[in-house]
Amino acid sequence: MAKVLYEKDIQQEVLKQRKIAVIGYGSQGHAHALNLRDSGYDVVVGLRPGKSQQKAEQDGFEVLPVADAVRTADVVMVLLPDEQQPTVYYQSIQANLKSGSAIAFAHGFNIHFSQVVPPLDVDVFLVAPKGPGHLVRRTFVEGAGVPALYGVQQDVTGNAKDLALAYSQGIGAARAGVLETTFQEETETDLFGEQAVLCGGITNLIKAGFETLTEAGYQPEVAYFECLHEVKLIVDLLYEGGLENMRYSVSDTAQWGDFVSGPRVINEETKERMKEVLADIQSGEFAKGWILENQANRPKFNATNKRENQHLIEQVGRELRELMPFVEQPIQTKQKDVK
Ligand code: NAD
Ligand code: MG
Ligand code: MG
Ligand code: MG
Ligand code: MG
Ligand code: MG
Repeated sequence: MAKVLYEKDIQQEVLKQRKIAVIGYGSQGHAHALNLRDSGYDVVVGLRPGKSQQKAEQDGFEVLPVADAVRTADVVMVLLPDEQQPTVYYQSIQANLKSGSAIAFAHGFNIHFSQVVPPLDVDVFLVAPKGPGHLVRRTFVEGAGVPALYGVQQDVTGNAKDLALAYSQGIGAARAGVLETTFQEETETDLFGEQAVLCGGITNLIKAGFETLTEAGYQPEVAYFECLHEVKLIVDLLYEGGLENMRYSVSDTAQWGDFVSGPRVINEETKERMKEVLADIQSGEFAKGWILENQANRPKFNATNKRENQHLIEQVGRELRELMPFVEQPIQTKQKDVK
């Protein structure tokens, strides 16, 4: 079993003496900055002018241009969108990094795929929360945390690992458990998870189920409840107690259907496709496509996004959710981050 570390295993002093610059104040940025400050750390936020800047100032942070925030800091956590990181890094970060300071990331993409190559006189570490930024904050406030992976790419001071661990503790991750990894493992597993299971897998499973029912003449509203709304209820059971807990709670008819029909939908063939997805991630093929897509101003991303938002399941869902006031307002409309 991998070794999972908790608060009791971690020393905080090494980070307490250092100034932390959180660069970006979006989903992860606001959560890291607020949690670190609440944990007693000295935090400055680095941003360009805009909505995020106003939000960080309203939250009581000193907000500086990125270059200035980097110059004052001993630890620089880069929480910009992955596709923006190389430009901002080479324009405003690299030249201002103090020798012997540390640069950190919440996802390994740019380091692993060599889009950002830090100088040889700084520590480079990773603290990657395994959950959305808004939950990194929400769970922290509730006294809990989102687990995280940490890793060290470059250790010039001998402190890189301790810094990463203290940082994990500061954002509340050590309440839930932190696990050692490498930039490579975090990058490849994170990309695979979101593509094959969490985002790509689940959205396509939901749409395929919804389309199968509506094309067979069933009411879209009924199909929506069955294939999308109920997912949350099932996922909560999985999260709380694994597959067994979910199967305990559903009817035995549902459990029998799970056993006999599940493998007809997701099977060895699906797994072969998953292996192809993983191979494209490992070879850098996926990264290359995403980097080029951004350089071309995202023609495919934007066209696909527009088409997806017009899908019947989205139209029906918007109407039904209006009538369910107990469904939490989407983070998207509640917290306006500059994207
Ligand atoms: P985000 O899009 O929510 O926020 C980005 C922030 O950067 C915003 O405050 C924005 O104003 C700022 N910004 C954008 N361009 C800028 C520029 N040119 N100069 C200065 N500031 C700029 O990003 P995010 O989703 O929090 O992702 C940040 C990092 O965290 C990424 O590496 C991502 O992979 C990683 N991560 C995110 C999540 C998540 O829940 N979203 C989970 C794990 C890891
Ligand atoms: Mg992830
Ligand atoms: Mg990710
Ligand atoms: Mg049912
Ligand atoms: Mg049962
Ligand atoms: Mg998004």
